[in-house]
Amino acid sequence: MTGARAGDDAAAGTGPSIVWFRDDLRLADNPALHAAVERGRPIVAVYVLDEESAGIRPIGGAARWWLHGSLVSLADSLESLGARLTLRRGPAEAVLTGLAASVGAGAVFWNRRYGAAERAVDARLKTGLRQSGLSAHSFAGSLLHEPWTIKTGQGGSYSVFTPFWRACQAAPPPRPPYPAPAALPGHPGTVASDLLADWALLPERPDWAAGLRAAWQPGEASAQRLLDGFLRDALPRYADERDEPARAATSRLSPHLRWGEISPFQIWHATEWARIGLTGRAQESASRFLTEVGWREFAHHVLFNAPDLATVNLRPEFDAFPWPPLDRTALAAWQQGRTGFPLVDAGMRELWRTGSMHNRVRMVTASFLIKNLLIDWREGEAWFWDTLVDADAASNPFGWQWVAGSGADAAPYFRVFNPELQAKKFDPQGEYIREFVPEWGTDAYPAPIVDLGETRRAALAAYEQIKGGK
Ligand code: FAD
Repeated sequence: MTGARAGDDAAAGTGPSIVWFRDDLRLADNPALHAAVERGRPIVAVYVLDEESAGIRPIGGAARWWLHGSLVSLADSLESLGARLTLRRGPAEAVLTGLAASVGAGAVFWNRRYGAAERAVDARLKTGLRQSGLSAHSFAGSLLHEPWTIKTGQGGSYSVFTPFWRACQAAPPPRPPYPAPAALPGHPGTVASDLLADWALLPERPDWAAGLRAAWQPGEASAQRLLDGFLRDALPRYADERDEPARAATSRLSPHLRWGEISPFQIWHATEWARIGLTGRAQESASRFLTEVGWREFAHHVLFNAPDLATVNLRPEFDAFPWPPLDRTALAAWQQGRTGFPLVDAGMRELWRTGSMHNRVRMVTASFLIKNLLIDWREGEAWFWDTLVDADAASNPFGWQWVAGSGADAAPYFRVFNPELQAKKFDPQGEYIREFVPEWGTDAYPAPIVDLGETRRAALAAYEQIKGGK
């Protein structure tokens, strides 16, 4: 897992450089692109829609919508610098091998991914390319700290956040971001490309994406604007207001980070700059914000060490949890925001309308599904996977297992969020609830589908059954 090695390129000849874009749909601070430009040969930029390689989890509906917009934006940016974005579909290893042969490539560059299936594809590809005499280089572009570089004193991985984050802070500081290239030497020949429209990433019949379009603008420029605006306007009050869904107090960068339209290195250094002018609580806010970016690092660290995070309980005693048969009516009421608990319903409707949900409300809605409806966390994880624009292979299952109590450094199972108390505390004026549940307080609003006290007791009794396990 090393970066560019000087000797390779001499052997690989002078053919063009392929830059394989994946979860890094940006030009600035893109180490793979940077290295390809340094190599000085024409560049073939490619994105591969891979829904076929073994073990790769197909992305959900909201993510497909985002990907379409992000690819349009990336293609425009590449074109303005002199290169085209080639689109291909199929198993990535075969696609890349074929593309490299057809353009006579000398080298292939990419930034690393951390899921097991993705790593397996990348490792096979790297070996195959090198065996064919090409050079293949991978880089660290999506995480501040590669998961295997952060180790406990005994050389193992972390399962608790605080010591993990302390170890990250003791590691060499995040490198400065690379600038975007000023120009790109495009490949002069014709390279066959799919048409983006043929991938049908956008919903058509019906077109349910109006709310997503109103809420988001995928792409690198938009990510940078959000970061600048957040650091200017909201960072100083982040620590105090980040839990209130009615406040515009968080960065909203998660889908941009998910798709790599911005890197954590850019966020880290921009925040460190912004922090210089801050004092007291505002300065604490900057640390708090970077700590949240640290939770993203931790989720990837955990995924790296537990590749089945989306399907397998990290704590094996949860395998014996006595989930009752799935109540499909209750699941549908939760998905559609018709549970009769206004904060839960507001969150679920925010998710459906905008493809996102405030972090505090994610915790409340997840807790309600697992502990008040006694529905397996995997059902909720799958729904979020399909409906979130930031649906992330690490952070989503990590968040669900955290709420369930089955995960790393998880909330204890007996911590059951009370959606009514949470609403009083974090949305005291009901502004957030009214935005998404306008009929709240009228006869049109559904009655509660469960009794909070009774279901809480049932959940705790179920938990008692597995407590002695492990
Ligand atoms: P900010 O508060 O501005 O934080 C900055 C960045 O830090 C975020 O963009 C995000 O990348 C990272 N971050 C913040 N909180 C967390 C966290 N708890 N875990 C991991 N990273 C974090 N986040 C995703 O990016 N994708 C998911 O699929 C996802 N699913 C979740 C599911 C559940 C059940 C829960 C409880 C949380 C989930 N999160 C997920 C984490 C968190 O809710 C979002 O990252 C956050 O709401 C994004 O808003 P923001 O960008 O304004 O965050």
